[in-house]
Amino acid sequence: MNIQNSLLIDGAQVIGTGASFSVINPATEETLCLCNMASSDQLDQAVAAARRAFPAWSQTPDAERSRFMHQIADRIEANAEELATIIVKEQGKPMALAQLEVGAAAGWTRYNADLEIPEQVFEDSDNRYVKEHRKPLGVVASITPWNWPLMIAIWHIMPALRTGNTVICKPSGMTPLNTLRLVEIMNEVLPKGVVNSVMGEAEIGNAISGHTGINKVIFTGSTPTGQRIMVNASNTLKRLTLELGGNDAAIVLPGSDVDAIAEGIFNTAFINMGQTCAALKRLYVHESQYEEMCKKLADIAAQQVVDDGLKPETTFGPVQNANQYRLVSELVEDACKNGGRIICGGKALEGLGYFYPPTIVADVLNGIRLVDEEQFGPVLPVIPYTDVDQAVQMANDSKFGLGGSVWGADLELADRVAQQLECGSVWINNHAEVLPHIPFGGSKMSGVGVEFGIAGLLEYTQLQVINTQK
Ligand code: NAD
Repeated sequence: MNIQNSLLIDGAQVIGTGASFSVINPATEETLCLCNMASSDQLDQAVAAARRAFPAWSQTPDAERSRFMHQIADRIEANAEELATIIVKEQGKPMALAQLEVGAAAGWTRYNADLEIPEQVFEDSDNRYVKEHRKPLGVVASITPWNWPLMIAIWHIMPALRTGNTVICKPSGMTPLNTLRLVEIMNEVLPKGVVNSVMGEAEIGNAISGHTGINKVIFTGSTPTGQRIMVNASNTLKRLTLELGGNDAAIVLPGSDVDAIAEGIFNTAFINMGQTCAALKRLYVHESQYEEMCKKLADIAAQQVVDDGLKPETTFGPVQNANQYRLVSELVEDACKNGGRIICGGKALEGLGYFYPPTIVADVLNGIRLVDEEQFGPVLPVIPYTDVDQAVQMANDSKFGLGGSVWGADLELADRVAQQLECGSVWINNHAEVLPHIPFGGSKMSGVGVEFGIAGLLEYTQLQVINTQK
C-alpha cells in the first residue's frame, strides 16, 4: 500500500515544511510513515485557498452540492478496503470495526447530501413577511481525535459542505493517514480549495483556533483542548461546536435479566477497546445482582481474541498509543491500591504492541481515579449500589455529561431514571448508539452544541432574518 503523507492545499499535494513526526502502528510499535507538520505559512495558504473557493461553492445550487456529496460517498465506497486497512494499521481496531467505520462514513455522507436546509416563516401578516434565511459561515476548520478518525472527520466535513462552507481538516497526529487519503479522494471530485488538509498538533491547533480567516471550529477531542480552543477563539468570536470527553454512567435497575443485558453492556463499554467518547465507562449495579453481573461480563471478556487487528480472528485490538496504554495501567493499579478487585484482565500483555486485555474491576466507589476520570481504554469499573436514588446521585457526581444509560425491563421506571441523569443523551437498554438523524452532544464539561440531524446541520449556518414591510 502506498501510504501518502502529504497535505492537500488548493487541490495540490504538498509536503509539510514543519517538524517531522512518526505515525506508529500500535499493534507492532513500528513506524508506519514519517510525516511533516504544516508550517504556519502553509496553514495561511490553506485558509486563503478555502476563502477563494468559498464564493463559488456557497453559491453552487443545493442540488449540485448534494450530487458532489453522493459522488464522494461513491468514491469512499470504491476505496473502502484501502481506507479500512489504513485505519487498522494506524488506529489499531480490528478490521471488521474499521470496515464498519468506513461504511458509516459513506452512509453519513449520503444522509447529509439528502438533508434539506429548513427555513421558517416567522410572520406572514397584512403588515409584514418575516422569514429565516440560513447562510454558510465561511471557512470551517475540523480538528479530530484518534479514536474514530475517519468517521469523525466525515461528521465534521459533510454538514459543513452541505451548507455551503469550505473546509480545512486537521487530523490527530496519531492517526492522520486515513484523513489525508480521504481528503485526497474528496479532491478527485470537488473543486480545488473546497476541502484542504493540514497536519500538526497543539501549535497548529492554536493557530487554527486564533486564525482570523477561519469562521468556525468543529472540534472533537479532550475537554482541556476544547477549553484551550474556546479561549483562543474568543478574539474572533468564532462559532464553536465542541464534542469533548465523557465518563458515561450506566445504571442496571434491580431485578434486571443479567443474561439478557450483559452482552450489550460489554459491547458498549469495550467498543473500540473502550476508546469511544460515549462508551459506557462506569457501571452501577444493584447489590443483589452485583456478583452475577461481574461474572457474566468476565465470561464475555474471556471470549475476546486480543491481537493485531489485521488478523481475521482478532476481536480486540491494541490501545491506540503509548500514553493511553500507560494511563490504563496506572488507573488499574491505583484502583487495586484502593480496594479494587480484578475480575478479569488487569495486566498489560507482554511483548510488542500496546495490548491490554478487557478488564473488569469490582469493589470500587466514586472518589477513586478509575471511577472519577475518563479512562478511555479497555477497563470498566463496576460499582455496587443499594437504592436507585443513590445510583442516580453517584452517576451525576461527575464534571462530565456526555451520555448515560439505564438498563432494565421496567421501561417506565427506566424513563423516570433517565430524566434525572445529567447528560446530553440517555439510552435505555443500550448505550453509545449514534445515528445520523439524531442530535448528539454533551452537557456540563462534555461539550457545547450538537452534531447530527437538522440541529447539527444548522450549527454550520448563520441565521439571518429578512423582514419585509408589505
Ligand atoms: P486531544 O484533545 O488530545 O486531541 C484532539 C485533537 O486536538 C487532535 O487533532 C490534536 O492534535 C488537537 N489539538 C491538540 N492541542 C490542540 C490545541 N491547543 N488547539 C487545537 N487543537 C489541538 O484528544 P484525543 O486524545 O485525540 O482524543 C481523546 C478525547 O476525545 C477523549 O477525551 C474523548 O472522550 C474525546 N472524544 C469526544 C468525542 C465526542 O463526540 N464528545 C468523540 C471522540 C473523542
